[in-house]
Amino acid sequence: MAGSDPLPVAVIGGGPIGLAAAAHLVQRGLPVKVYEMGVTAGSNVRAWQHVRLFSPWKYNVDATVRALLLEHGWQPPEGETYPSGEEFVAEYLEPLAAVPALAAAIEYGARVTAVSRLGIDKIVSSGREKRPFVLTVTAADGRRQRRDLVRAVVDASGTWSTPNPLGAGGVQAEGEEEFADLIAYGLPDVLGRARSTYIGKTTLVVGAGHSAANVLLDLVSLSDADPATTAIWATRGTNLSRVYGGGANDELAARGELGTRLQNFVESGRIQLATEFSITAVRASGGQLVVEDATRGDVRRLGPVDRIVAATGQRPNLDMTREVRLDLDPCLESTKALGPLIDPNLHSCGSVPPHGHRELAHPEPGIYTVGIKSYGRAPTFLMLTGFEQARSVAAAIAGDLAAADDVHLVLPETGVCSTRSPDTSASTANTSCCGSSPATPVPEVIRTSCCGTRG
Ligand SMILES: Cc1cc2nc3c(=O)[nH]c(=O)nc-3n(C[C@H](O)[C@H](O)[C@H](O)COP(=O)(O)OP(=O)(O)OC[C@H]3O[C@@H](n4cnc5c(N)ncnc54)[C@H](O)[C@@H]3O)c2cc1C
Repeated sequence: MAGSDPLPVAVIGGGPIGLAAAAHLVQRGLPVKVYEMGVTAGSNVRAWQHVRLFSPWKYNVDATVRALLLEHGWQPPEGETYPSGEEFVAEYLEPLAAVPALAAAIEYGARVTAVSRLGIDKIVSSGREKRPFVLTVTAADGRRQRRDLVRAVVDASGTWSTPNPLGAGGVQAEGEEEFADLIAYGLPDVLGRARSTYIGKTTLVVGAGHSAANVLLDLVSLSDADPATTAIWATRGTNLSRVYGGGANDELAARGELGTRLQNFVESGRIQLATEFSITAVRASGGQLVVEDATRGDVRRLGPVDRIVAATGQRPNLDMTREVRLDLDPCLESTKALGPLIDPNLHSCGSVPPHGHRELAHPEPGIYTVGIKSYGRAPTFLMLTGFEQARSVAAAIAGDLAAADDVHLVLPETGVCSTRSPDTSASTANTSCCGSSPATPVPEVIRTSCCGTRG
């Protein structure tokens, strides 16, 4: 593709990876247009702004972005400290979005609802790579819709706005919709904005990742203020090694400490834990809720509780790209090539070999999925991974294949990493750090470089 092409490259999403991609494209002299549906950069991060990142600043800044920001007088934060989501947005994403070359490229309140090829649908093969992409964009007022032509698409739209349901089967549990006003998805700000909702109440937290851990620890803190505040934790499996983590062996100390504190509260009884609980129904019970697991003959019940937090992770929204030809992993809905490398059925470490444009491309030429969306439903994405994705994809779009193929990635270790055969139960997982099970050989790079998980 020629750099003189007048059509811009579209970046969908102004989160950390979308903005990194935009910065790399700008640096290569390509016209760029960033579509961000929120009113500011990092809108999804703002939704969990009260949470402290488990990776310190030195891992949260893209190298090219760093150079760009320094040119504009940026004062880099101290590399060993851990920002909250709010600080990460204020001290990194906002200054980046304000750099003139990017500021001119970003449109806020612009939601992309569809990506297609000009004049042809998904079925037509002949000459489709010569046709520009058409983005259907809904502007801030939600009523005006327009069509923008672009030469390539970098989908960095994340997964945050499509949370997994409470229902263990991947679809809503019976009653989940009916009692939606008592169920929160993701990471409610239990100690801040949502304090009055949770203080003095009994809350069931569902999920086995770092989001669940954060909410549970906040509920324990809230119980210091009002001992009537009670936390119950339900997980589908029995192996909690991913969320308990590697403790002192975790190279990301904050992540290791999070898991250790959680484990201590469970063992001391301040958090009541119910493992192997697959929620199939939510029912009313005297002004409160109970959840049911009817997957094994006898119906098991948990509760009553006042509130439920579904910290069950997110999934990619695939509606937007329905008219283009994507190749996705059938299990994770990640890009196809990444699937076997990050599949939590196979290994719990969050590491991944260096990868770039080839693993993030699709049969539809010119569209790439990057950032946390490239991982689909897998819970182990780190920004460091996304920064290298963004660099490689921008180089590929610019036609610099040598740079695009020259991928590097070194991730911090978790200190815990299991591998297992896909059909074994979680409880039989081999929990030795990065040890390979005979049934599931793991590439060397994965065994030597494990990193963490998220809820
Ligand atoms: C609680 C939590 C803590 C985390 N902590 C860490 C950590 O410590 N270290 C780490 O490396 N990673 C961490 N992660 C994982 C990951 O790095 C972050 O989720 C990161 O924000 C992913 O960046 P992204 O740019 O891919 O997606 P997002 O940050 O989700 O950005 C996507 C953007 O796209 C926009 N968008 C979505 N759909 C559309 C559309 N249709 N049209 C236009 N715009 C759209 C959204 O508004 C959003 O701004 C954490 C994740 C969570 C949830």
